[in-house]
Amino acid sequence: MLTTVVGSYPAQPQLPESFGERVSNFLGTYDEYRPAIALAVNDQLTAGIDLVSDGQVRGDMVEIFARHIPGMVFEEGISKIKGKINPPVASIGADDLKFAIKTLKNTLNQLNIDPNLNSDIIDKKGVKGIITGPTTMVYSSRMEGFYDSKNKDKAVLDMAQALKKEAKFLEAAGASVIQLDEPFISTGLVNVGTAQKAVEIIAKDIKIPVAMHVCGDIAQVFSRLLKFKVDIVDCEFAGIPHNIDVLETQSSFNNKKIGFGCLDTKSSSIETREDVANLIKKGADIIGLENMLIDPDCGMRMLPHEAAFSKLKNMVEAAKGL
Ligand SMILES: [Zn+2]
Repeated sequence: MLTTVVGSYPAQPQLPESFGERVSNFLGTYDEYRPAIALAVNDQLTAGIDLVSDGQVRGDMVEIFARHIPGMVFEEGISKIKGKINPPVASIGADDLKFAIKTLKNTLNQLNIDPNLNSDIIDKKGVKGIITGPTTMVYSSRMEGFYDSKNKDKAVLDMAQALKKEAKFLEAAGASVIQLDEPFISTGLVNVGTAQKAVEIIAKDIKIPVAMHVCGDIAQVFSRLLKFKVDIVDCEFAGIPHNIDVLETQSSFNNKKIGFGCLDTKSSSIETREDVANLIKKGADIIGLENMLIDPDCGMRMLPHEAAFSKLKNMVEAAKGL
């Protein structure tokens, strides 16, 4: 059983402090987000998480991609599709991922942690490459020309081709897992068949495990999600307890691992270890502990920093105590 996070972490950009940083700032090479990535990776490893993220510190999950995908713009705080969606020429997240991997290696050394881990999913501590899924990207954006705004399927499939290139960039940069965030799939607003086709366009040529995160109420879609050709399906079970009942109604999990969200990320109150352990046990009775990845319900970006860290620490202790 592996512990992980969904993605975002509350870590703020930092102004240059040291002499070296101030010099780079003067030269225009200082990146205020680097310290935030380092803090996110450091905190997650210190809390005991196995598979960490770079914290997604540069903006919200749609904005980060909308700013760089040809055919899209991000203006007046809104993501818009204005032309044909094309693959990005350069990677959007590979530099941050590489920096997170470098930080991970240094931190593991400092914490004296053995990076080798026995797991049938990944074989060592690592960083996941996170991409906002094609359906969520299109449905979160305003359509302004080129595509038919009433039928979004074509835009979703073009988005999949664009994000496939990014997934390959992240795989080449050293990601341990590629995760596609698709919260829109549980809303009932989207064509699930097209969403599946789009996810599979991305997952098809990726050799590392592919996870799909779908938060929200999964009652209507979970059995469909189990048919997607991905290795891990990740959902929330703390904030929406009814999702556990949905697990119970499944006759098979189609050889998938289940990402088991067990921290309520909408609440800053810190669950006790017992509460988290009891929730994990409920899931384990249905899925089997060996088929679970233990993580928070969703990204932690909106939580106070101290709360996010304490929640993760309790979660790891609860999981390791089972
Ligand atoms: Zn989510």
